[in-house]
Amino acid sequence: MPVCPYCEKEINYLEFEEDFSYLKIRCIFVINENGEPDYRDEAWVDCKLDDVAYRCPRCGEKLFDNQCEAVAFLKGEAERDEC
Ligand SMILES: [Zn+2]
Repeated sequence: MPVCPYCEKEINYLEFEEDFSYLKIRCIFVINENGEPDYRDEAWVDCKLDDVAYRCPRCGEKLFDNQCEAVAFLKGEAERDEC
């Protein structure tokens, strides 16, 4: 299982957060059974992925700002060529 570099706790999902001028979206970001990235929250709306944060659910530190790196982290991959 991936380990947060800040609090060193094992985590199997990230908290996804995006700020808009009129609302803040929070949801859970996971790798689903098919190995695909998945956002789990009914409040999620499709939108451009600027200014986003993928945070550790344990300590709240921002670990990533793009989905590609977040996916690689949760899958336990050190790096991805396309990041
Ligand atoms: Zn942490």
